[in-house]
Amino acid sequence: MEKLPEFLSYGRQLIDEEDIQAVVDTLRSPFLTQGPKIAEFEQAIAQYVGSKFAVAFCNGTAALHAACHAAGIETGDEVVTTPITFAASANCVRYVGGTVVFADIDPQTYNIDPIEIEKKITSKTKAIIPVDFTGQPADMDKIMEIAKKHNLIVIEDGAHSLGAEYKGRKVGTLADMTMFSFHPVKPITTAEGGVIVTDNEDFYRKLQLFRSHGIEKTPYSIEQGDWYYEMTELGYNYRMTDIQAALGLSQLKKIESFIKGRNEVAEIYNNAFKGNPNLVIPSQLEGTKSGWHLYMIQLKCTKSRKEVFQKMRDRNIGVHVHYIPVYWHPYYQKLGYEKGICPIAEHWYSNVLTLPIHPSLRKNEIEFIINSFKEFAS
Ligand SMILES: *Cc1c(COP(=O)(O)O)cnc(C)c1O
Repeated sequence: MEKLPEFLSYGRQLIDEEDIQAVVDTLRSPFLTQGPKIAEFEQAIAQYVGSKFAVAFCNGTAALHAACHAAGIETGDEVVTTPITFAASANCVRYVGGTVVFADIDPQTYNIDPIEIEKKITSKTKAIIPVDFTGQPADMDKIMEIAKKHNLIVIEDGAHSLGAEYKGRKVGTLADMTMFSFHPVKPITTAEGGVIVTDNEDFYRKLQLFRSHGIEKTPYSIEQGDWYYEMTELGYNYRMTDIQAALGLSQLKKIESFIKGRNEVAEIYNNAFKGNPNLVIPSQLEGTKSGWHLYMIQLKCTKSRKEVFQKMRDRNIGVHVHYIPVYWHPYYQKLGYEKGICPIAEHWYSNVLTLPIHPSLRKNEIEFIINSFKEFAS
């Protein structure tokens, strides 16, 4: 094989006939949105992760925005997060006027380092947003301990980690609020979509209001009559549709097999690359079970990452780089963040590459990726 016949993305959805039927059934039902599928999906997600409540949103970024609002983050408040994440993990703090503070990563797990978090805490710190980068849970016991000590709220960005486990507990039960994303590259998909899970009833109520214009049925409105409702705070239209929720319900039934498929790919890669002096394979924190959303490999060879990246792309292998340190983006640079503030993250970023991983990868594709990578990264 010279190159793959078609471009192979680093991640993609796996949709079957049952998923398609679920969407079609909803299209034929009375409700395309604001119908019964949303509550059904929320209950299924809450039950799956073991949380009390779940609130579905039109996407994960809207869900994070809502969580920041529910946490009471506002102008002047500081929120600590990792630079190695998608921009949305930091942007949500900006939406509510907060200041983002970046804490460096652990060089072993690539997740935010609890020791670095503690160094960044000031009297203005209000919350921590750890990210379960690549699907591996952040070190949540240590993070929750720091939060308790300093009276902070923890919003876990679990965009990568639906179904992942930390010390025998599923992600979704570890933080005050946890976000999952259902974008097509994520563990399950609703096309666009996201959710916040929580055990806190006050957060739950705030999230629901924020999602739907801040409108609710108050005792006063009930007294007025059935048509009456009150807008008690400023909210948004951040709702998920029933079409998306129906797809999500169908997808959720398959999450275990999706994670199993991702684990198998990761194991094949690990076995192929371990012991190679030019490469560093991803390591796992003891007691965690990753959802393997991403497979990140570090290059230690003399060839540049750019060169290896391009050669792989020339063969239609959709290697990628996750992520550019968030504060390197011009928006954050203009806010005054300087390069160099998280040296471990920056060094790691300069040598790392994402290899394709998803449950529908075929054996011959995996083999071609491995052989090509070994050829170029030596
Ligand atoms: C995908 C992602 C988001 C945002 O989710 P959307 O559903 O795409 O809005 C947030 N954080 C991380 C780490 C992500 O990977």
